[in-house]
Order: sequence, then C-alpha cells, then structure tokens
Amino acid sequence: MSYLDLFCNYIQCRERLNNKAVITSCSHAFCMHHGNQILSNELMCPACKTPLNKNKYDLTCADLNPSEDFRSMILAGLRPEIIIDIAHRAISFWSYQIHMENMYHIIQYQEWKKKHSELQQVHETWKNNHKIKINHLQQRVADLEKQLQYQAKISEELQQKLHEKNREHTTTLQKFTSLKHRQLSESAKFSMLQDQHPVGNTKNNIDIYSLEKNSEFFAVPSSLPGFHIGSVPRHKKLHCVRTTIIEPHSLFQDGDKTCKKKTSTKINRK
Ligand SMILES: [Zn+2]
Ligand SMILES: [Zn+2]
Repeated sequence: MSYLDLFCNYIQCRERLNNKAVITSCSHAFCMHHGNQILSNELMCPACKTPLNKNKYDLTCADLNPSEDFRSMILAGLRPEIIIDIAHRAISFWSYQIHMENMYHIIQYQEWKKKHSELQQVHETWKNNHKIKINHLQQRVADLEKQLQYQAKISEELQQKLHEKNREHTTTLQKFTSLKHRQLSESAKFSMLQDQHPVGNTKNNIDIYSLEKNSEFFAVPSSLPGFHIGSVPRHKKLHCVRTTIIEPHSLFQDGDKTCKKKTSTKINRK
C-alpha cells in the first residue's frame, strides 16, 4: 500500500484503484463500476454532485500504469509552459485527493472516538452496576455466614443438651433397672421365706419380717393384698415375726415385742 494510492471516491465503495479509473473535472476518481454508472445515469459526480459533460472532457478514463510509449508521446511537442501547466493541474488533483483522504480519516477517527466514548460510558455504567451487585452479594454472603455461625452455635448447644439428656436418661434407666432387679430379688427372697414360714393369711393375721430386732426397718410379704415390700436394704438378714393386724395403720401395735413402735407410714400402698 502506497501513501499515494487512489481510492474510489464513492463513499460506500472506496475500492483501491490500481489499473484504471474514471477521473472527473471536479478532481474526483471512481472505479470503473461507479464510473460507468455516471455515464449511464444523470452525468453527475456522485461525490460533489457537480454536473458533468462527457463531450467537454469533464470525465475521462485514465490508465494508472501507462506504457513507456504513452509516457514518451503524451506530452511530446507541447511547449514547456503547457507541460508545466498540465503537470500543475495533475498535481493539484493529487493534492485534493490527499486532502480528501485525510478528511476521510479524520472523520473516521472522530466517529471511532465517539463510539469509543459511548462504549466507555456503557462500560463504566456496566462496571458500576456490577460493582453494586457484587457489593450486595458480598453483603448477603456475610449475612449468610453470620446466620450459619449462629445456627451452628444453636446446633452445638442443642447437641450438648441432648447429650446431657441422654446421660440423664441412661442414669435413670440404670437406676430403674437396678431398683427393678432389687425388687425382683427381694420378692424372690420373701417368696422363699413364705415357703419356709407360711403366712397366716387369715383375715387378721400376717407374717411380718424385720431386718433385726428393735429395727425401724421392716417388710411385709407381697402376698398381703393392698401392700408391697417396704424399705429393706439388700443382703440384710430378715427376722420373721408373727403378728396380728387389723388395720394397716395399726400394723405393729398388737404384734410381737420385737416389732414394737413401728408406724404405718413405713408401708407403701400400691
Ligand atoms: Zn467504486
Ligand atoms: Zn466531483
């Protein structure tokens, strides 16, 4: 590409002119396609709207790469001032073409600069909008992290409480199992004692077993309706005492001497 290349002055075309061109008297140049349109239509320069007359050398088809013979003969015989005048007009044509090319590039530069400014403005708007969205999302993420930490703390506290409740439940269950085994063991002991010492389970007589003589602890055989075993420590030897009862609250008031001063509050009603 040369600095002095010609381009079709039809603004939508701008084809590079290498071999032939249609040149007008108003110093415009066109490709052969658009030059033929000038000849076939209204004979008006498409660039500056100047009327053209093909019979007055207003337009000519120029060979842009003339032969040696053409170069030797085209100005032959002309006087030097004519040759200089022709050359001056030809150089003026090029000067105008270069000026138009510069104007074209200046206009292109201004249009691109305007588009760049608009795109930059769009970019700034887009960037600011996304910055606001990013800040909003970051704030939301921070809030969610706080909520997550709070929920994790609540979950940890609930797990600790559940662990404590499970431990209490296990302890209670162990106590219940222990008491149940203890009760079953005592029931078995009393059943064995009943077999050895049959209960006089008549209306007003019952066998009373005491842990030891003169002890506050006592036990009532489980066969007595409405009563169950009283508080009896494990592995204590029981003393069988036969007594007579009429009412629960006077159980030991009329019994053997070894069971004196025992109150009915030691007997638990089922
Ligand atoms: Zn063209
Ligand atoms: Zn023109």
